[in-house]
This record gives sequence, C-alpha cells and structure tokens, in this order.
Amino acid sequence: QSTEQYYELLERIIISISTTYFIDEYTIDIGASIGVSISPLDGEQLDSLLRQADFSMYKAKQTGKNNFNFFDLAHSKEAARRSMKLKEIRQAFANHEFCLYYQPKVHMASGKLIGLEALIRWVHPEKGVISPIQFLPIIEGSDLEVTVGNWVIEEGVLQLKKLNDLGIDIEISVNVSSMQFLDASFYNNLKKALNRYPNINANHFQLEVLESSAIGNLEQVTKIISACSEELGVKIALDDFGTSYSSLSHLRQLPADTIKIDQSFVQDILVDPNDYSIVSGVIGLTKSFNRSVIAEGVETTAHGLMLLLMGCENAQGYAISKPMKACELVDWIQEYKPNQSWTEFSPIEMPPQMKRVKQLALILNHCFTNMKEYLQGSLEEKINVDKMGCHFGRWIRLLKQEQLFEESWINQLNQSHEDLLQVVEELISNCIVSASRPTERDLNKLDTLFEELQSLLGQYH
Ligand code: C2E
Ligand code: MG
Ligand code: MG
Repeated sequence: QSTEQYYELLERIIISISTTYFIDEYTIDIGASIGVSISPLDGEQLDSLLRQADFSMYKAKQTGKNNFNFFDLAHSKEAARRSMKLKEIRQAFANHEFCLYYQPKVHMASGKLIGLEALIRWVHPEKGVISPIQFLPIIEGSDLEVTVGNWVIEEGVLQLKKLNDLGIDIEISVNVSSMQFLDASFYNNLKKALNRYPNINANHFQLEVLESSAIGNLEQVTKIISACSEELGVKIALDDFGTSYSSLSHLRQLPADTIKIDQSFVQDILVDPNDYSIVSGVIGLTKSFNRSVIAEGVETTAHGLMLLLMGCENAQGYAISKPMKACELVDWIQEYKPNQSWTEFSPIEMPPQMKRVKQLALILNHCFTNMKEYLQGSLEEKINVDKMGCHFGRWIRLLKQEQLFEESWINQLNQSHEDLLQVVEELISNCIVSASRPTERDLNKLDTLFEELQSLLGQYH
C-alpha cells in the first residue's frame, strides 16, 4: 500500500534468502538480486512489466548484487532517446553531413596569422548548421567518437595540404577528445593520415588535447604526447586550460607546446577581477614553464589590448573572425588586415604603473559603455541594479592593496567614481518614477563625470 511497505518487503526477502546453507559437507551461500517494476506506474501489460523487471534485475546484479533495483521509466526513455539520436548521427556521418569550419588565430603584436582551428559542424539538411556541443556529447563513449575523431584528423591534414599547395604556410589544429586520444589506435591513425601527404610539414599540424584527458592518465597521456611530438613532429596544445584541474603537475610533466586559456575566463577580464587574476596567473605560469600561450574567446579589440598588457600576445576569437567554411578560407586569408590597435600598441617596455593605468582605462571604458547601455535599456532591467554590473569599485580596492600608486590619487579616483555612481543611481530612480528614458542632458552630465575620471587616469600617461 505504500512505498515504505514494499521497500521493507524487498529487504525482508533478500535477508531471508541470503543465508548460508549447510548441505552434507558443503557450505552454500545464497544471495538475491531483485528487479522491480510497479503497476500501474511502469505500465499495465504483464509481459512488459516482466521485461522491465528482468532488465532491472540485471542492473541490480551489475551494481553489486544482493540488492534490488527499480525500473525507471524516465531513465529508460532517456536512454532510448539517446540511442535514437546516436543512430541519427551515425547516419548523418555516413551521409557526409559533417564538415569542418576554421577559425583563425593571430599574433596580435605583429598582426601575423599563426593558425587555424578546425571546428566540427553538422550541416543538417533541414535544421541547418548544428554546433558540436549538440551532438558530440551523444557520441561520447561510442565507437563513433573514435571514427569521427579520425575523420577530423584526416580532413585537417588534407586542408593543410590544400593550403600548402596554394603557398599558404599556416598551422592547422584539430580537437581531440579524451577517449580518441587514449585509444590504442590513435598514434597509428595519426601517422597514417600524415604519411598520406609526405610533403606537408607535420610541425604545422597541432592537436588540441583537453587538460582533463590527463586526469588519472598522466603517464599514458605523457607517453602519447611525447610519441606524437618527438616521432611524428606534431605540436600539442592543452585546450580549455583553467576549466578542470589546472594542475601544476600537468603543466610540469605534460610536454605540450601551447596552453589555451579558456574563453570563459577571457570574456570577463574587463569586468571581473577574479577572472583577470586567473588569466594573469595562467599567463605567468606558461612563461615560467616556457610554453606559449593563446587566449580564446577574444571578442573585442579592448580584450586584445588587455591581454597584450597582461603579456599574452596570441589570440583567437570573434574580434578576429568567427569560424568559417573551408571554401571561404583563402579569400579571408588574402583579405586579412591586422588590427592596428593591437599592432601599434607595444606595452612590453611600459613601466608597471603605466600598464596598470592603461588597464584601468580599458576597464573603465567597458564599465561606462555597459552603464550607458543599461540606462538606455528597458525599464524592467533597471529595477535590477545588479544588471548594470559596474565593478570598477572592486578594481580600485585592489589598487589600494597593490601599493603601486599614491594613496591620495587612488582616493581621488575612488571619489570620482562614487560621484559617477551616485548620478547613475539618481537617473535610474528618476527614470523609474517618470517611466521614461534618460534625456540627452542627463547623459551629457554622465559624460562629463566620465571624462573627469579619464583625466585623473591621464595624469599617469
Ligand atoms: P574549443 O576547442 O575550446 O573551441 C572554441 C570554441 O569557442 C568554438 O566553439 C568556437 O566557435 C568558440 N569561439 C571562438 N571564439 C569565440 C568568441 O570570441 N566568443 C565566443 N562566444 N565563442 C567563441 P564550437 O565550434 O561550438 O566548439 C565547441 C567545442 O566543441 C570546442 O571547444 C571543442 O571542445 C569541441 N569540438 C569542436 N570541434 C571538435 C572536433 O572536431 N573534435 C572534438 N573532439 N571536439 C570538437
Ligand atoms: Mg579547441
Ligand atoms: Mg577551448
């Protein structure tokens, strides 16, 4: 009649069966694994109830015997859905519906194009372009993961050859999943793919391996990386660095050439001092370990300038280009113009104060643009002041700890910022009361306060 009652009953059955029998000179231990399906919850047909119970019994055995397992309709529906999806993806792969897009990487300081990352896409005949996060997790753990991975390598190598044939000398990188990388056939497949075109320079082929692949497999991953780089000559990058363990022993032991800082940290370096510190820390580590470093998810010129100030000169992101089809590559490369704000900026020689002031100016600009957008946005958004997200005050607090500047100057900066915030708050409440947007005059007043802050920063230029 109740859940407690059948739990009790199941326990009682298991306990009374699981006992030791002495028969003649033999001692016999008996156990029980029970599969349960409940009617009408799991269905009403006797044969399907029995099938489900039988299935659950095997689950009970798998999970350690001498226990019981309930048939879980929702779970099994999910498993059936996944299996359908996997079948669909398998078919799509067989139909050649997968292709690789390419996203450029540049050396910001010189403007030089340094590489292209191959990113898989599923071009569905009806749904259009489907991103990898929508289908890669479904093939994870199946044989298809390795098959698709091998295809990506072959396509990447072929693309490298095509560009080389056109006289374009550039590095191509492909992403490699953990299972693919640790698969026994990986090394030979890579070798075969590279040997197909003896004229290409394997030094211009890079594998982007997830740092998380090394967790629990450090020795094995080290061996594979060494074999790939020493014997085949390919380059290795640790992808998404910062998102998993970010282990120092990984950095010390794995013979990777490049560290890719994950975009989730890069995107907020102009806002969040914590993300700034993570990125800055990773850049420092890569320097200490003599590796090169590249930032992903560089969406604006300001992000690039900030990274240059932090000592990271390589970047990939929408500020340079979104991933594009292979057929668009050659035109893009021929028309590529370096970002002048990056090439004309040379912060390496700058004294630390000047660097910090330039960073503050970038942060302030970013905050102010957000602030204005927020003020001109809808009223509903204004009710939630957090959405404005001005974190400049947090940076000022950090400045105080750092002791790079005179305290009186920091206090002036702080006061000026407080004044600005106060005006913003007044404007917000006026807007809410009168249900209107700020006027031109209001915005001009803000501009004046912003200029004051800028000129304070300018004292250090
Ligand atoms: P990833 O290797 O870290 O690739 C970078 C991702 O960031 C790409 O997403 C790229 O389109 C996106 N991205 C680049 N610049 C920006 C930017 O400025 N802003 C934003 N918001 N995003 C940016 P995508 O193509 O959707 O790929 C997602 C992930 O799927 C990849 O992350 C990679 O882990 C995986 N992946 C993609 N292709 C393959 C593949 O062929 N094999 C394997 N195993 N994994 C792949
Ligand atoms: Mg990658
Ligand atoms: Mg990444």
